[in-house]
Amino acid sequence: MEPRPQRTTAECPDCGEKVTLRGAVALGQRVTCPHCEAVLEVVETDPVELDWAEEDEDLDEDEEEDEDW
Ligand SMILES: [Zn+2]
Repeated sequence: MEPRPQRTTAECPDCGEKVTLRGAVALGQRVTCPHCEAVLEVVETDPVELDWAEEDEDLDEDEEEDEDW
């Protein structure tokens, strides 16, 4: 038997279009919507549900050290 590539579709919470996930889907997996380019995260796997991921990837983690002792 040939293993079929596992494909799952979920709905983009932003534009409502179908987002296809290839392979195993894991909780917390990041996926970018091909339609609106929203950065999404898998919040549910059965059935697969997507939600907006925290948009902190573009930010450089500048730790503001105000506490100057
Ligand atoms: Zn979308």
